[in-house]
Amino acid sequence: MRLENQLRLLPSIDRLTARLRCDHELQSLSNSHLTALVQEATENLRASFIEKNIKKGRPKLDAAEKIMDYLSEEVKWLHHLSFQQVVNGAGVVIHTNLGRSLLAKVAQDAAQDASAYYCNLEYDLRSGERGSRHTRISQTLTRLMRVPGAMVVNNNAAATFLALNALSSGKEAIISRGQLVEIGGSFRMPDVMQQSGAIMREVGATNKTRLSDYAEAINENTGVIIDVHTSNYRIQGFTGSVLLTELAKLAHDHNLPLIADLGSGALLDLSRYGLPKEPTVQESLGSGADAVMFSGDKLLGGPQAGIIIGDRDIIERMKKNPFTRMFRCDKMTLAALDATLDLYFDEEKAVREIPTLRLITRSQRQIQQSAHKTLRYLRRNISTDFRFERKDGFSEAGGGSLPTLKLPTSLIAVMSGRHTPHRLDAKLRQNRPPIIGRIHGNLYLLDQRTLLPGDEKIIAQALNRL
Ligand SMILES: *Cc1c(COP(=O)(O)O)cnc(C)c1O
Repeated sequence: MRLENQLRLLPSIDRLTARLRCDHELQSLSNSHLTALVQEATENLRASFIEKNIKKGRPKLDAAEKIMDYLSEEVKWLHHLSFQQVVNGAGVVIHTNLGRSLLAKVAQDAAQDASAYYCNLEYDLRSGERGSRHTRISQTLTRLMRVPGAMVVNNNAAATFLALNALSSGKEAIISRGQLVEIGGSFRMPDVMQQSGAIMREVGATNKTRLSDYAEAINENTGVIIDVHTSNYRIQGFTGSVLLTELAKLAHDHNLPLIADLGSGALLDLSRYGLPKEPTVQESLGSGADAVMFSGDKLLGGPQAGIIIGDRDIIERMKKNPFTRMFRCDKMTLAALDATLDLYFDEEKAVREIPTLRLITRSQRQIQQSAHKTLRYLRRNISTDFRFERKDGFSEAGGGSLPTLKLPTSLIAVMSGRHTPHRLDAKLRQNRPPIIGRIHGNLYLLDQRTLLPGDEKIIAQALNRL
């Protein structure tokens, strides 16, 4: 079909808006919001006609009515893609794409209060004068972890960047070749180091780095030695790395600071809960690192943040660095993090109330019991032709934490004579709220470990609607 004819078939904004005005999925939208979505969908289609980039699987758009139907669906998608709650049936506890950690109730409340009321964010209640937003959270951290210095920035990538900039700008930062990791997205250690102004000085080999490799690299222009936890992968076989204690001694013999990017940063010894040993933040400091950086929303189970703890003077140098202003956290984050950290004063309470810890430490038996409850609920409440089965399987911690760990779990297999697993998956992603499962072999699966109370109702409603 010729372009001008195709373009002539596009409906007017008003006609399409009028048609969608009555659609129940779009009822909550104001007129101007709906019009904006209609314009966007129409513009996208016009552009793809002109560029002739016809999306795969798109129906042949050669009649006005077909185009109208197509655009209606597109508008609904644009609306559906807005920020919203989803059901995590994927079984990855710290799922970066699904928002990582859920907040404990006290942390949710703290963030809500900070958003609804004025607060003493940068106000010193004792003197009645201007204060610093770093004061309270730093105090909580130094008290809890019994460390001399602490501070918090926006995320751990920023924390690592800040540490490198503050301690090693224009100077060499020594790092093992086995630790030049990519965390995901655009966080690659070599790039971060370069942007921070530190001169990367790689030592050793991918699989082996010795203490002497570090020692030989030290010169008068060395700024820092950095150790990066290889959170999201393991090198196995003929490997060797240097203990943090040895590295600390070497650094201190040369009057250099040793900093450690721990990534996930567990505050609790997870091996007490039957999980493999991850170095805790306290242990890394105990080994002699002068500053340790870790995420707030990975194993700690709080909001997105980057925490730096360690030597008081080094932390003070970082606090005075201009990047600290750019990387600062907002009040809701600080409130939620403070409330989360408070829970750690009582370890049992932390494991009970912090969702990330609770979900990771759930036993196979507990999950199996919940799975049976879910199955009973689904079988009782679903009128259509679905079948459900419990299967044994494995979940993951996620978020670059405990990368090789397989957590035994129960999976709910959803089977239907009418829907293939892929179709089921697509349909459930279209649900409100969307349900995210996974496909394994020829089965659509929901992992009970990451299902929250009430999710079974959402799943039942969604399946009934199909
Ligand atoms: C996750 C991770 C980071 C990035 O932390 P964010 O809080 O996501 O910015 C940096 N370093 C390591 C080793 C990590 O695992």
